[in-house]
Amino acid sequence: MNKNQITLDTPLQFIKGVGPKLGEILKKSSLLTVNDMIHRLPRAYQDNRRVVSFSDLSLDQQVIVQADIVKKSIIPLRSRNKRIYEILISDGSQIIPCKFFTLPYKNWFNSLRVGERVEVRGKVTLFRNRFTFNHPQLFPSSPEEEIKNQDLVLPLYSEIDSITQHKIRSIIKEIFTHLFLSDKDFEWLPAWLIKKYKLISRLKALKGVHFPDSKRIDDYLKFQTEFQKRLIFDEFFELQFYFALKNQGWKIGKADPIQINNEYVKEIQKNLVFDLTLAQKKVLKDIFSDLKSTYPMHRLLQGDVGCGKTVVALISALVCAKQGYQTAIMVPTEILAEQHYKNASHFLEPFGIKVEKLTGKMKPSQKRTVSGVLQSGFCQVCIGTHALIQENIQFNKLAFVVIDEQHRFGAHQRALLKSKGIHPHFLVMTATPIPRTLSMAIYGDLDVSVIDEMPKGRIPIVTRRVFPKKRKEVFDFLRDQVKTGRQAYVVYPLVEESEKLDLKNAMDQYEKLKNYYKDLKWGLLTGRMNSDEKKDIMNRFIKKEIQVLVSTTVIEVGVDVPNASVMVIENAERFGLSQLHQLRGRVGRGAYKSYCIVVLGERFSKESAERAYIMQSTLDGFKIAEKDLEIRGPGEFLGSRQSGLPSFRIANIIRDSKSLSLAKQSAFDLISKDPYLQKIEHQKIKDKFKELSTSIQPG
Ligand code: ADP
Ligand code: MG
Repeated sequence: MNKNQITLDTPLQFIKGVGPKLGEILKKSSLLTVNDMIHRLPRAYQDNRRVVSFSDLSLDQQVIVQADIVKKSIIPLRSRNKRIYEILISDGSQIIPCKFFTLPYKNWFNSLRVGERVEVRGKVTLFRNRFTFNHPQLFPSSPEEEIKNQDLVLPLYSEIDSITQHKIRSIIKEIFTHLFLSDKDFEWLPAWLIKKYKLISRLKALKGVHFPDSKRIDDYLKFQTEFQKRLIFDEFFELQFYFALKNQGWKIGKADPIQINNEYVKEIQKNLVFDLTLAQKKVLKDIFSDLKSTYPMHRLLQGDVGCGKTVVALISALVCAKQGYQTAIMVPTEILAEQHYKNASHFLEPFGIKVEKLTGKMKPSQKRTVSGVLQSGFCQVCIGTHALIQENIQFNKLAFVVIDEQHRFGAHQRALLKSKGIHPHFLVMTATPIPRTLSMAIYGDLDVSVIDEMPKGRIPIVTRRVFPKKRKEVFDFLRDQVKTGRQAYVVYPLVEESEKLDLKNAMDQYEKLKNYYKDLKWGLLTGRMNSDEKKDIMNRFIKKEIQVLVSTTVIEVGVDVPNASVMVIENAERFGLSQLHQLRGRVGRGAYKSYCIVVLGERFSKESAERAYIMQSTLDGFKIAEKDLEIRGPGEFLGSRQSGLPSFRIANIIRDSKSLSLAKQSAFDLISKDPYLQKIEHQKIKDKFKELSTSIQPG
C-alpha cells in the first residue's frame, strides 16, 4: 500500500504535518481519526472581500487591512488620568493611526511590537483630514495567515485548543488530497430520498464546506450552498429519524382503546359554567381520536397561560373514567396539585367520579389510604406531585397519564409515571409557548395540539413598562386597585442571589411595603417556606385575607386566582421574556380589567428595557416566544428548564427551519414505507440506529 494512502480510520498523527504532539492535542478534543477531522465542520466563514489596500480606503467603510506597526505612543490628554494609546500602521507607502481610549486588557499595548505585522478591522474615519481608525480590532497576523487574493472566503472552525485556523485548514486539505474514497463510501441515505429531496452526494458536500468557492461567497455566508444544505439536512434527518423510530416503537405497544360516547360528552359540556372555545373543542377531538385508537396517545398540548388546558384534560379523564379506566395527572407543585384537586373534585364528583390527591407532604397514613384506593380502582382520577411516581404507588387500570407543565419534569420522571400503566395514553401539557421549529427539534416524537384562542369575555391585560423613578406611582396605583376590591401580586427575582447583586429581595421589600402601605393586608410567599406554610398563605390569598401577595417566582406556574388583577414584576431585567409572560398570565383570569406592570431596576441593560417593551406591545405568547428565541437563541431560550435540545454541528434550527420540516417529513415518510427497515437500501440507516431499530422489530 502506498505510504501516503489514508483511510477514514487512519489516526490523525499519521497525517503529514501532524505528528504525535499535535495528535495528542487533537485527541483531547475528541479528534482521533481522519473521519473525526473531516466531520469537524466549519461553524462560519470568513469574508475577506473587505481586505483592502491603503490606497483603496474610503471614508466610513468597514474594512480589514493588513500592515506593519511603525510606531506606538501614549498621548496624555488635558484632563488628568486620561490618555490616548496610538498605534501607527503602514503599508509602506502610507501611515494610518489607530487610536484607543481604553485598552482591551492591561498589557495589550505593551505586548505589541514595532515592526510586527497586524490585521486591523474597523471603520475608516477622518481626523484632521486624515484617515484614522478609532478602536479597531487589532491583532497580530502571522505571515502564514495572510490573506491571499484567491481566498476571499475561508472556513472558520470552532477552536481546537491552541491550533490556528490555518493549521486546521491545512490538516483538512492534506487529508482530502490523499483520501481516495467514492461517493458511495459516504452515503447513508437511500437513493429515492436523495432524488426526492434533490440532495447532492455527501462526499461532495463535505468537500464543498471545507473548501469554499470564492465565487459563491454570499451563499456560503448564509449557509445556502447545496453543500451546506446537504449536511444540514443530514443532521436534521438523523434527529427526526430517531423521533420517527421512537414513535414507531410506541405504536407497537397496544393501548386499550377507549370508547367515546358523544351523548355523554355533550352532557359533560352542559355541566360546565362556560362554553368551550373552538380551540378547546378541536383539541378534544384530537385527544378523543387518539383515545379511541389502539395506538397509545403521545401528544403535547401547547397553550398559552389561561387558555384552559386543565378542563380539556379533565373532560378526557372523565371520558376514560366512564369506561372504567383510571387517570393520573402529575403537576410540579403542591399548590398546583391542591388547586387542580379542588377543581377536579368539583367538576367530576357530580358524575360519580372519585378524585384523590397525592403529594409528598401528606401524612403516611393518608398516602396509604390513597394508594389503597388507587390500587383497588375505587378512585378513578388522581392528581399529584412527584409523589405519584413513588415505587409503592400502583394503579388498577391506568389508561390515561397527564403531565401538566411538562418542562418541570425530567424525561425519566415522565417515563416512570407512564410505566404505572400498560401503554397508557399519554398527554403532556405546557404553557410555555414554543415556536414550531423548536418544538419540532425537541418534541419531534410527539403529536402536537395547540390551543390558540383565549376564552371569551377576557378583558385584555394592560401592560406597562416602568422605569425605576416611577416606582412609587406603581404602588400607589396598586393600592387604588386593591381598594376597589381587587387583589395583587408583587414578584421579585430569587431571594438567594439578592445580596450580591443588590436587588430588592422579596423579604426586605415585603417588610418595607407592609410598613408603608399599612392599610393593605400583605402576605409573603417564598420558595424557602415549607409546603404547609405555602399552602396556608395561598389559601389566605384565595380567601382574600391577603390582598397583596409578595413572592418570588414560586407563583409562576399555574396558579389561578380570578380576583387578582394587578401583577407588579420588580427587577424585571432579571427575567426572560417567556418568564415575564408566564407571570403576567397570573392575572386577567377573571372578569376584571387587569394590569401587569413591568418595573425595571436601577441597573437595566438596553436589551432588558427592550424586553419590557415587547411585553407592553403584545399579549400573544407565541409571538413573545419567537422574540425570546430570536434574542436568546435556542439554548438560552430553553435554559436549564429544558434539556433535550440536541446540539448540531452545522444546522441551526432558526436559520434552517425549512430544512428541519423537510427532514421531519422525509424521516416519517421513510418509516411508513419500511416500518421495520427491512429493505437493503435502508440497511445503513438501520445500522446507525441499531439499538432502537432492533427493539421495534415485528413479532
Ligand atoms: P391553563 O391553560 O393556563 O392551565 P386553566 O386551565 O388554569 O389555564 O384555565 C384558566 C381559567 O380559565 C380557569 O379558571 C378555567 O376555569 C377558565 N376557563 C377554561 N376554559 C374556559 C372557557 N372556555 N371559557 C371561560 N373560562 C374558561
Ligand atoms: Mg395550567
